[in-house]
Amino acid sequence: MHSHELRGVGMTSQRTRDRLVARLRAGGIEDIRVLEIIRHEPRHLFLDEALAHRAYEDTSLPIGHGQTLSQPWIVARMTELVIAESPDHVLEIGTGSGYQTLILARLVPQLWSIERITALYQRASERLRRLRVSNVRLRLADGGHGWPEAAPFDAILLTACARELPEELLAQLADGGRLIAPLEEADGSQWLTQVRRKGDDFDYQRLEPVRFVPLLQGVIR
Ligand code: SAH
Repeated sequence: MHSHELRGVGMTSQRTRDRLVARLRAGGIEDIRVLEIIRHEPRHLFLDEALAHRAYEDTSLPIGHGQTLSQPWIVARMTELVIAESPDHVLEIGTGSGYQTLILARLVPQLWSIERITALYQRASERLRRLRVSNVRLRLADGGHGWPEAAPFDAILLTACARELPEELLAQLADGGRLIAPLEEADGSQWLTQVRRKGDDFDYQRLEPVRFVPLLQGVIR
């Protein structure tokens, strides 16, 4: 990696990023901290070279293995939700490219992130290491089991869609903490949902329609 890649020139110019941020703002993203981090951080480094020129379009893009780097708008929205109550311990399920991980890492003190596909886990680790992100721990595992040794979490974010939330994951939420996830309903529609723990009760709040790849089980070596 050359230093100019980090600063962003040409196809990844500041003007392109400014345009993306203007679009996110028009789309209802209000948290200035989130907008500024997205303006600053290099999304093009989380894509294959052939797709890097599209990095600052507000669109999801393939990252191989049938997975996608989420659209910037949804990354911004989920980040806004996660940081709204200034969580200290945050768990992400579905590291993928590592881009959402990077954005969150810049805005929360301590982040844990789990990915089930070895190749994606390795690539994300390498990118985050190069960007000198030091407040994130990554793990290759089935995220459905959470990260018991680091629990409880003030916030848990799923970047893949679940039909039903694993009990083990809900059990790792701190009291008053929130889990944010795309959930699939019986009719096949997906909704971004916020689940708040209150003692042994879990309050579900449906937020907006979304489209995510599924949460799957096991580890792909
Ligand atoms: N936030 C990522 C989104 C990647 S798509 C990004 O911005 O790039 C969702 C990711 O969740 C995929 O990488 C997929 O492999 C992963 N995933 C799906 N089920 C999982 C599970 N049970 N545990 C961990 N990761 C999982």
